[in-house]
Amino acid sequence: MQNDHKRETNVLKPVRGGGSLIGDVFCPWTLVVDPGPYMDVFQTEQAAKDHGQERIQKIFARCKPVAALFPTDAHELRNDEILFSNGHTWYLRGPALGNLQGKGIRYLREEEVWMWSQGKMGEAEGRIGDYLKMQTSKVLRVSQAGPMDGVPMEESDWYRAYHKGLIHEWEVQCLNPECGKYFDPIFSGQRLDGSFWGITWNRYQLPNGDWNIPKCVPSTHFECPHCRHPHLDNPRTKGEWNRTGRYRIAKSEDRNPKAEGDPQVADSQLPIADRQEDLVERKKDSFHWETVIDFPWDELVELWLDACNAEKRGDLKPKLQFFQKRRAMFRDLESLLKGGLHFRRSAYEIHSDWPEEKGRFLSIDRQEEDMFWWMARAWSLEKSRKLGFGKAYGFAALEELRLKFKVEANHVFIDSNFLPKGDHGVYAACLKYGWIAVRGDKAYSFTHRIRKRYVQKSYAPLSWGDPGSGGAMGGRKYCPLIAFSKAQLNQKVQEMIDNGSWEEPLNSTEPEMESEYAQQMAARVRKTDYVARTGETRVFWKESRNDHARDLANMNTLGAILSDLVPDPAMERITAPEAARIEAVDVRAD
Ligand SMILES: [Zn+2]
Repeated sequence: MQNDHKRETNVLKPVRGGGSLIGDVFCPWTLVVDPGPYMDVFQTEQAAKDHGQERIQKIFARCKPVAALFPTDAHELRNDEILFSNGHTWYLRGPALGNLQGKGIRYLREEEVWMWSQGKMGEAEGRIGDYLKMQTSKVLRVSQAGPMDGVPMEESDWYRAYHKGLIHEWEVQCLNPECGKYFDPIFSGQRLDGSFWGITWNRYQLPNGDWNIPKCVPSTHFECPHCRHPHLDNPRTKGEWNRTGRYRIAKSEDRNPKAEGDPQVADSQLPIADRQEDLVERKKDSFHWETVIDFPWDELVELWLDACNAEKRGDLKPKLQFFQKRRAMFRDLESLLKGGLHFRRSAYEIHSDWPEEKGRFLSIDRQEEDMFWWMARAWSLEKSRKLGFGKAYGFAALEELRLKFKVEANHVFIDSNFLPKGDHGVYAACLKYGWIAVRGDKAYSFTHRIRKRYVQKSYAPLSWGDPGSGGAMGGRKYCPLIAFSKAQLNQKVQEMIDNGSWEEPLNSTEPEMESEYAQQMAARVRKTDYVARTGETRVFWKESRNDHARDLANMNTLGAILSDLVPDPAMERITAPEAARIEAVDVRAD
């Protein structure tokens, strides 16, 4: 803030993070050292009044060089305006900005801008025009993250202003002398292999799946991302972190939630570019830290686990507030849902044998006459590993992929929703190559009649697709066709991702296709609505246009269900002896 080349300083900080103290100290400094008209603007009229009386004016009175500038005429000394004897005025305002009579402002401090209505920041900053022209102005914005309800995150004034600055992240040194590496003291981070670091606790859960908070909280500690050294919450840790702490210049994507859940976002869409010259020329600085450095960790874990339990009941608000207020990260509901997707990554070789492997499937989704998305995965009894994902042109190219990945012909599942019929239809290709046609259905389960019993499964009994139906060729040949419940398979895939059994290779040879994959996988999200009247939670899946990888994942998982590598989700509620009996009947039924 004392750097004459900088026009703006943004402080994105947690609640109770000492942010307003920065402004409280900056003002008396400017009044004495480099004076100019100064304006403090608070989020509400009341906050302005309270802060002015209880903090700012008291600091003025106790700061000798400022007190010496107090006007001798008491009329010049008002609660919201002081004309100092050096000729410069200090103004205190709420969001109405009030009566400024066209006066120019050199220093502008804006508090809790996350809750300012859109456009208000611009209105206040219009006052500094003359000083901006002379390049002597300074804007200080201090706030938690946003946005406010109903404002699109990336369009919010605070988000845009913050991301125009050169972003600085607070980092501290590991207390393990063998390690001594630096990391960001954040609530939670993820290593490349999918494991978590940061604040950690033993995972105790109640029978209903809720976190057992009183049992979890005492095990709280902070794990170093590099050496896993457990840091305890005590004055020594926080003192050492304070001593070694420093700001590092962060890449623009570091704190961008869009980039986290959606790595495909092009750089040009991000609010700022990461060009080298920016580092030199940028006249705007942004700073960020999280509450981990100065808030009791057990309290934080309790807040977080409460928020996780609320989320299970369809209430995302506490989680949203945790991100915005405690972690000081920009988040809205959409970014929260997308950010929930964490793949487990493993260092496996795609072409080497996996001893536990029990089967592999190739799933295909037709997009255009000649364009297809495909995904090949290997399966063990507990896990699934991605072997490949991409685009292919023509049925022959897909058959080559089948051979390349050594998938049996009847382990190829192709979606038959688009162009199933005719000589170049999906059914004809299934007949030619021996693949299986499949179709996602709205039904939640399908009734199978096994002997005299009826059971529910997540896929329909085998039916037959007719490539020539309606034409001269109709009724001559049929290919196998299996309908499945989209809702059940969506849920099953999500469960596998959430419990870490949906694995992705650690070192992808095709980073572009890898990020396309991650984007498509994140494009279908599970949403819950809590219906207060009935006390029930309604679950539904929000689909996007570009979420083909999710359909491919569903089809691949259908293969695993058909091969008994994964339990059928529609049957999971049946007791084990009952299921065993059904399975026994199933075998004899053929
Ligand atoms: Zn360490």
